[in-house]
Amino acid sequence: MADFRLPTDNIVRPDKDRFFNEENPFEAMMQRLDRAAKLLDLEPGIYKVLRSAEKEITVSIPVMMDNGEVEVFTGIRVLHNTSRGPAKGGIRFDMNVTLDEVKALAAWMTWKCAVVNIPFGGAKGGVICDPLKMSVGELERVTRRYTSGIIQTLGPDSDVPAPDVNTNERVMAWLMDTYSMHVGHTVNAVTTGKPVEMGGSLGRREATGRGVMITTVQALEHLKMEVKGATVAVQGFGNVGSIGAQLLQQAGCKVVAVSDRTGGWHNPKGIDVDDAIAYVKKNKTLEGYGKGEAVSNAQLLELEVDVLVPAALENVITTKNAKNIKAKVICEGANGPTTAAADEMLDEKGIFVIPDILANAGGVTVSYFEWVQNRGGYYWTEQVVNDRLRDIMVNSFREVLKLSMQHKVNMRTAAYMVAISRVATVHRLRGIYA
Ligand code: GLU
Repeated sequence: MADFRLPTDNIVRPDKDRFFNEENPFEAMMQRLDRAAKLLDLEPGIYKVLRSAEKEITVSIPVMMDNGEVEVFTGIRVLHNTSRGPAKGGIRFDMNVTLDEVKALAAWMTWKCAVVNIPFGGAKGGVICDPLKMSVGELERVTRRYTSGIIQTLGPDSDVPAPDVNTNERVMAWLMDTYSMHVGHTVNAVTTGKPVEMGGSLGRREATGRGVMITTVQALEHLKMEVKGATVAVQGFGNVGSIGAQLLQQAGCKVVAVSDRTGGWHNPKGIDVDDAIAYVKKNKTLEGYGKGEAVSNAQLLELEVDVLVPAALENVITTKNAKNIKAKVICEGANGPTTAAADEMLDEKGIFVIPDILANAGGVTVSYFEWVQNRGGYYWTEQVVNDRLRDIMVNSFREVLKLSMQHKVNMRTAAYMVAISRVATVHRLRGIYA
């Protein structure tokens, strides 16, 4: 039997007004795009194309709730750019979903796929809802109605969703089933991050955390810091944070702090990550874990550690707390955890940031492997998946690092430069259809 975790498990909500308008996420993405575009001397035409999303869909989702009343939710799907291949990107269920946020996340997916050089464009979706307050039946009805609302864009050659915040394998199974019912036959390549029993890839669930571990180890080695005993604090104990922490511990690091939406625990002697995962499996959250000193999510970010892994939501490292961050390496497991305005402050402090579009690209890389396996109808062993993932992550890290040293820019700007030049090259080759 598949081990389904509830989509609502282990979601960190460090700060409910986390956007507090320091940066709108779309603007934050644009600022980084601008910086890299200038350095690349990008021609104005392509620059204009890259600033806008190809398609934005908003649908209303009427759902019969368990109490017999109809609730209407709003669903969004944005396709930012499909020049390099089908649109790819997750779907999140969250009360804070906005069109601007989804647009930013869709563009990030374009850059992410290009940084690791997989043949996809970028997309993102979201439904404004509070899955913590919904039953499994309500979640299923929301998923199916949302899927049928955006069905025109979906398809293995056009738009391929995946899990994201508060969605998981089970949600992808409902999405795949709904799509397949509409077209009249089973199409498992319409989504990735599915249960293994129905065409999901081995290693997909662990892939983002594995990428976080691989890039962190690369960074420590580059900085000539010992991997063994390097202290790590991880914010977020969902799919990315918990597995990232577990694999970093297996690589020899000392995980000294973990947190989820209920708060965190700090133990300078080290936290047994397997034990914390087992606790969360039983108790749903880290609340009451108790093996260490209780810390807030904000305090965790400022701990004296070698590596900080923000693996929860956007905009947790801002101009308000960047100056207090003591980590030497930040590995962005989440999408957009650092505001654009905080980038410079981290640079001034000499902190080595592995940017989100590189650090958390392990997930979409194995999504690509899943799509390839589905289309070929031939399935790989977990070892093959993990080895191919490692090759892609290590090569991408080295490529970005090389460019960052050549141009004397930080890793984020270098990653954007790699990504934008790949997307721009395809636009130049394809030309403008008129
Ligand atoms: N939601 C994940 C991300 O932000 C995975 C996307 C995918 O696999 O398509 O990278």
